[in-house]
Amino acid sequence: KLMNIAIDGPAGAGKSTVAKLVAEQLQFLYIDTGAMYRALTYAALTQNVNLENEDELDSLLEGIQIDLRHTESGVLVYVDENDVTELIRTDEVNKHVSLVASHPSVRIEMVERQRILATGSNAVLDGRDIGTYVLPQADLKVFLTASVEERARRRHEEQVKRGFPSEFEELKKDIARRDELDSTREFAPLKKADDAIEIDSTSLTIAEVVKSIIDLAKE
Ligand code: C5P
Repeated sequence: KLMNIAIDGPAGAGKSTVAKLVAEQLQFLYIDTGAMYRALTYAALTQNVNLENEDELDSLLEGIQIDLRHTESGVLVYVDENDVTELIRTDEVNKHVSLVASHPSVRIEMVERQRILATGSNAVLDGRDIGTYVLPQADLKVFLTASVEERARRRHEEQVKRGFPSEFEELKKDIARRDELDSTREFAPLKKADDAIEIDSTSLTIAEVVKSIIDLAKE
């Protein structure tokens, strides 16, 4: 029987790092749903689409293909034939992605694409609404959290590595603001599923979090 693992939680909790490693160790497909909302946000910004306008965003999305390409050097994100892997991680995209993701018709289309990707393979998905909405029947649901300080610290480290150094206090504000928008939006908000297992990673290493998820998956 095929297995789906849902990893949800607030911004910067380490979901993508952990999800990637869990997928690698179990030889599952890794699906980064946040990258899909980021890719649309990037496309909208470059094409001057009004991010408040749900219909415009929806038709933009209908016209583009968002690909998560699994390669030797990791997962690359493509919008049509353009590699946007790095371009979707800028402060500019961070700032606008939650607004884009708040529109119900955008989410309905994204969720349809995510379900298609997850069907027919063993998969680990990370996001905000995987356990509550995208795959309510997921075999294992994890809700990964950490203190906002720690999440900002990790994001800062990540951005420095990427060559997009941002101000720590700014990052902390951005994370808190995104959490607020993501958890208060009306349609499929960020929320722990009732049957999700919460892991607070504030004082855990990546390896410890990965191990506990793999142990849970093997139960
Ligand atoms: O996970 P990541 O930080 O890349 O997600 C970027 C943004 O995309 C989130 O802040 C949220 O607004 C949106 N998102 C979402 N639902 C998902 C994944 C991401 O609304 N399943």
